Amino acid sequence: MSAPKRVKVCFVKDCFSNSDATPDKIFITVPLRPNLRRIWFEAARQPYASRSSKYCCEDHFDVTEDIENYMRYKLVGGKVLLKNNVVPHLFKHQLFTGKHIVSPFVTQNNFRCTSSVTPCVVLWSLLVVVL
Ligand SMILES: [Zn+2]
Repeated sequence: MSAPKRVKVCFVKDCFSNSDATPDKIFITVPLRPNLRRIWFEAARQPYASRSSKYCCEDHFDVTEDIENYMRYKLVGGKVLLKNNVVPHLFKHQLFTGKHIVSPFVTQNNFRCTSSVTPCVVLWSLLVVVL
């Protein structure tokens, strides 16, 4: 008898992805490191929880940019390696300014996104501040 499969649910507000309904989606474990974790929760618009296991679905990442071993993962599977200090940055609730996306979290801090990959860089600069 096999153990019941644990369903991974995306922790982002207003995202209803889960590994049961969409088993092909990648679910990334939310990092435990407090400073980085806080930024993930803020980006996901969730109240901070320090311990529980949380997952974020691939919809909130630019997978080919943000996942270190994406091609390898697609070809042979295994563990998904997120690039260092990447945070979820694609959300339905974000404001679209042309083709660029600016999250409420980012605008609050008076940062502007200038390309599709910049949110990571912007948040990286915030990380430098909090670390
Ligand atoms: Zn999601």
